[in-house]
Amino acid sequence: MARYTQASIERLREAVDMVDLVGTRTDLRRVGSRWVGLCPFHDERTPSFSVEADRGLYHCFGCGVGGDAIAFVRETEALDFAEAVEALAERYRVELERESESAEEQERRRRRGRLLALLERTTAFYERYLWDSQEAAHARDYLAGRGFAEETLRAFRVGWAPAGWDRLLTGARRDGFSLEELLAAGLAQRRRSGDGGVDRFRERIVFPLADARGRVLGFGARTLDPDEPAKYINTAENEIFHKGRQLFGIDKARVAAAKAARVVAVEGYTDALALHQAGIVETVAIMGTALTDHQLAELARAAGGEGVVYLALDADSSGQQAMLRAAKAAEDRDVELRVVQLPDGRDPAELVADDGAEAIVGRLDGALSVVEFAVRRVLAEAALGTPEGRDRALAQARDLIAETPARSARRDHLVQLVADRLDLPDDYVVTAVAQAPRRPPAERRPQPAAGGDPGPDWGDPGPEREWDGRGAPAASERAPAAGPGAAALEAERIFLANCLASGPPGRDYLERLTDDHFSADVLRRVHAHLVAHFDDPLEGLDQGDDQLGSLVAGIALSAEDRRDTRASDLQMGFLTLEQRRIDRAIRHARHDPEAGPALSELAAARQQVRRDMDAVMGEVS
Ligand SMILES: [Zn+2]
Repeated sequence: MARYTQASIERLREAVDMVDLVGTRTDLRRVGSRWVGLCPFHDERTPSFSVEADRGLYHCFGCGVGGDAIAFVRETEALDFAEAVEALAERYRVELERESESAEEQERRRRRGRLLALLERTTAFYERYLWDSQEAAHARDYLAGRGFAEETLRAFRVGWAPAGWDRLLTGARRDGFSLEELLAAGLAQRRRSGDGGVDRFRERIVFPLADARGRVLGFGARTLDPDEPAKYINTAENEIFHKGRQLFGIDKARVAAAKAARVVAVEGYTDALALHQAGIVETVAIMGTALTDHQLAELARAAGGEGVVYLALDADSSGQQAMLRAAKAAEDRDVELRVVQLPDGRDPAELVADDGAEAIVGRLDGALSVVEFAVRRVLAEAALGTPEGRDRALAQARDLIAETPARSARRDHLVQLVADRLDLPDDYVVTAVAQAPRRPPAERRPQPAAGGDPGPDWGDPGPEREWDGRGAPAASERAPAAGPGAAALEAERIFLANCLASGPPGRDYLERLTDDHFSADVLRRVHAHLVAHFDDPLEGLDQGDDQLGSLVAGIALSAEDRRDTRASDLQMGFLTLEQRRIDRAIRHARHDPEAGPALSELAAARQQVRRDMDAVMGEVS
């Protein structure tokens, strides 16, 4: 895909009114040359979020987020760079230019535009039929009977595909769309005879399936005819619609999900409608029980890096199997997942209809960790009547519990649960868990530091993950304290800002830093950029590297407020990075003793750093 020209991105940045843009998320008031308000990215009572309207930048001194308009839209609306640029261009009426495209690319883009326009026209056509036609009266009655307000249905653009063979087709062709385009968009199918086509959706309630920006790509359609064998049908896979990537309602849910740092996944269209209507706007439907890897990735993106994905799937066994499969996939992707328990035989829509919104809110609050969900399932399915059945259940539960951090409240809770159900003394379960076969370290995820976990010893750096730069910056920026890698990132960012703020001594320190001083690749790029553009960090940014841009902007802005950085701050910052660098080298040396400097050498270097730190502290206090 061709990129937008740097000039048009610049024009876009200039056209955006930052105070207006940010003002849609938080109230701002003017203080001197800045605008300040409560941070939309973290909870706070006193404002530490500030906007510089002239430079088009924002920064939060509380949680460290910062950047330009594009970064702001990416963060608050969970969009990627291109999507955020397009959304802003639409809002502020800026014409974007693309870098030169091949004829083939141009043709592909033109065709996609045509098909999207056809799908948009079709959505409006179905909507009109639902609300205005006599033939859809029973569909309106049915939807009202299910408890859906007109407002909800209109928000989701629910429609009615009329009876008859070719109503949509005839109208669309009159508007200049070809049969080939109708076939390609999945709206028509060929007649058996081979010539001409018929409408794909007839006499059904249709649910438009839109992308994150609300562009309709396909439809799901429900019949009201009890004799019709296929209750639901949907658009077949085609060049723009891929069911496995689709989340119904994502365009409505994403802003709320980014803000709440959670997204709720339900099975069906009506479940999503019901939860939205009940005020749980961060809900999407996966449209079936087979949650795909693509959908899981989309869910994780919608919830944000530190967010939680809630699965509220049916309590039947296929729904339960789906949750276990999703749990496995989530573990591989490092997504936090919680399982919402639903009563047998009732889906979320029925639950809301019968017991009101509180019923579902309560169940979300009581959602289980994946481990607890799995343990409860083992206990529920165990043959508790026989000693063998109980032994088997204990063995299965023990392996699951062994995955939780030792001496944690979570583990105690699970031990209690198993002991109660199997009618065993707690100690017995504790011993069993201790004897569980250990998975090799490579298979284990780094555990978040939990209450009972013993901290790393002096000289032992403990586990650390390298941030891959994808998806995570939002999280690391939003919650510097969370996760083992985040604190390191935050220290690196602050040190870079202090260097920028300190003039020549800061430049000296910057030049002393090497790639090994940074825990993530994107910060290495930031560092290289700052060395090259020390006097004007916002110059010469690579447009394609949007992470670089937003990090540099945030660092440059926070440097403005760090003019009183003392020499000792700089020194301490440098030593902190130096210590982390040595810690990483120690970890590598343990892994591969042949590769680098000897452990004894590294240990000596580390002690020296500690002594230097003590000396700085002594001078300061
Ligand atoms: Zn903040």
